[in-house]
Amino acid sequence: MLRLRRPTTLLWGFGLCLLLLFYVTVPSTNTDQCDCRGHQRAVTSSAFIGQSQQEDIRSYPNDKHKMAILIPFRDRFEELLEFAPHIHNFLNTQHKNHHLYIINQVDGLRFNRASLLNVGFLESGIDCDYVAMHDVDLLPMNAALTYQYPHDGPYHVAAPHLHPRYHYPTFIGGILLVKREHFRKVDGLSNKYWGWGLEDDEFFARLKEAKLEVFRPGNLTSGTKDTFKHIHDRRVRRRDMIKCYNQQEITRHRDRQTGLSTIRYRLQSKKEAR
Ligand code: UDP
Ligand code: MN
Repeated sequence: MLRLRRPTTLLWGFGLCLLLLFYVTVPSTNTDQCDCRGHQRAVTSSAFIGQSQQEDIRSYPNDKHKMAILIPFRDRFEELLEFAPHIHNFLNTQHKNHHLYIINQVDGLRFNRASLLNVGFLESGIDCDYVAMHDVDLLPMNAALTYQYPHDGPYHVAAPHLHPRYHYPTFIGGILLVKREHFRKVDGLSNKYWGWGLEDDEFFARLKEAKLEVFRPGNLTSGTKDTFKHIHDRRVRRRDMIKCYNQQEITRHRDRQTGLSTIRYRLQSKKEAR
């Protein structure tokens, strides 16, 4: 099932930006329906493909770092059409080296945002020394928001006091910058979260346990209404909130079994564009 239509249309007009589209199944099974028990078994086996070596393209020599923007994706083509040029221009204005990775889940299983982020981490070039875990429908609007290298600990750009929808203090979803060694240290994200929600809260538990402090933007003049544009009509883009089997139970606990080291997936194809 291929939901992303006419990707080449999107890829025109990016100038120097290298954009990579990965068509991924997580995990590769023959299951057509969501079977949470089946998923759990599948993700605990370890068979993942190694890190790819991509060409190191640095547009801004003064920026000593390079960010891989990991975008978990399925069936959000219109949002991507708006997001990709916007973020590219936004980061070029800040002279930040960056590279977009669209991780497109093309199997028939329920969406697994956390696993797609693990896949993005493994597939992104090691020339990128930090990742941005980035929703495709959240656009930074305030030029004072920075996407800097998160030296001391994860940097939560879409902070609760700025995000249009989520305001609880431990929220770390939307846009989170993490340097490579910290992502590895916590073994990435849990692979047990199918459908919408709570995978970011579980990731927060991992950061806390690893004693990694989360930093956030301060001193902005904008707030929850004008810092980001959230392109999300909930009647059109319905959130998959169904909890099947023991999902309710599982998603309330820190997962010590699965993560970056246990992700199993298949890369169906890879498209690259400049
Ligand atoms: N997403 C996607 N397809 C889906 C569900 C989610 O591509 O069917 C990705 C997309 O990047 C989206 C992110 O996951 O921005 C977070 O999902 P959603 O926007 O539903 O969550 P929200 O933060 O609005 O509750
Ligand atoms: Mn959204």
